[in-house]
Amino acid sequence: MPSFRAPRGTRDLLPNEAARFVRFGRVARDLADRYGYRPIETPIFEQSAVFERGIGEVTDVVEKELFRIARRTEEAEAWALRPEPTAGIVRAYVQHGMQTWPQPVRLAMIGPMFRYDRPQAGRYRQFWQFDVEAIGDPGPAIDAEIIELGHRFYSEVGVTEVEVLVNSIGDKACRPAYLEALVAYYRGHLAALPPAEADRLERNALRLLDSKHPSMAVINADAPRITDHLCATCEAHFGAVRAHLDAIGVPYRVSPGLVRGLDYYTRTAFEYYVAGREGQQQALGGGGRYDGLVELLGGKPTPGIGFGLGLDRVALVLGEQSPAPEDGVPLDAVVVFTDPGASVERLRIATGLRAAGLRTRADLGRRRLGRQLEAADRDGAHFAVIVGDELQEGQVGLRDLKAGTQRLVPLSDLTRELGRAVKQHHHGEGG
Ligand code: AMP
Repeated sequence: MPSFRAPRGTRDLLPNEAARFVRFGRVARDLADRYGYRPIETPIFEQSAVFERGIGEVTDVVEKELFRIARRTEEAEAWALRPEPTAGIVRAYVQHGMQTWPQPVRLAMIGPMFRYDRPQAGRYRQFWQFDVEAIGDPGPAIDAEIIELGHRFYSEVGVTEVEVLVNSIGDKACRPAYLEALVAYYRGHLAALPPAEADRLERNALRLLDSKHPSMAVINADAPRITDHLCATCEAHFGAVRAHLDAIGVPYRVSPGLVRGLDYYTRTAFEYYVAGREGQQQALGGGGRYDGLVELLGGKPTPGIGFGLGLDRVALVLGEQSPAPEDGVPLDAVVVFTDPGASVERLRIATGLRAAGLRTRADLGRRRLGRQLEAADRDGAHFAVIVGDELQEGQVGLRDLKAGTQRLVPLSDLTRELGRAVKQHHHGEGG
């Protein structure tokens, strides 16, 4: 017998954990609606070139982690699973002529991403993100809107003490001179650089600032800071973003070392951390402005900004902050029975209750009543509908499992009676 397992770096979300993710998705979608970010879905795979060109060839995500799909001989294109959502969404923006829509186009998506990374705690090969993008607005107000939206997601989903780190990483006017200064600095420390980092120095020095290598922390502490090299327009933009954040009361900290791992970022860059955990490469989420990306992917020059919030890391942190499992949405009622012959009646009664909007499971097996009631209780059901001998007189038992009380109800009144009881119960919980 083969023993099959989920692929390395992936995991099954069993009901308690999947219930969490469903809730994250609801909170995310509700927030996106509240802020006017409309849903979009793009394929989970794209032409590899969308990522190579958009994200950049000399990035961890493309160089090491791109989950390439084996090419079939009859196909001219090479494909890869999406490692992040922005490149695909911007590809869709260009493909569908969204630059003719009212700008900015505000979009949101929730879905799985794929990176062929070495699996470890909080780092998977398939993980989920809540992503928003605003394409066609140079900011600075929209930058603050998006940073605040991400911050609110964490508080509404129940993660406490989330800190926002912000930085500006300049644009094509000021970054080249900064990069020169950075390269010169690292050349001065060449002997101390790990080989992989030394190799990248001439190709993409910014990546070294973002390096996960432990020995880079010391070297990076004294590296030149982009914030000391910003041109006047980037400086003004960054100041205005901070003023907008102050005005809407988002707590943040300027973090001059924050550069983000993808090439397409310009100006505003930000990350969310659980306070006190910035050092551990465990950003809960992050994002930034990408004013050159639309053009890189074949569109007219168009500014944009967005974020990707990792839901797996939210689940990890929530698991630490409040370990009780999430049960998802509890049932209102379970239809149970004393007479094992009556499965048609049970199914018919449950079907009627569901049609009326009540969350109802029917016990369709043949076990004893005691077992059925235990199972109903385990499922969080507040009520049991007991189908027994009284059915011949058109009546069923309605048992309040929490209170331990029971009464007979005419079948013709059941939907109304149960509906009223459920409403009363929810009301009691709310008040
Ligand atoms: P990045 O685009 O790398 O900044 O990723 C944005 C967010 O996605 C991170 O802050 C994480 O929350 C999440 N994330 C990125 N890579 C992974 C991964 N391999 N496993 C789980 N979550 C990830």
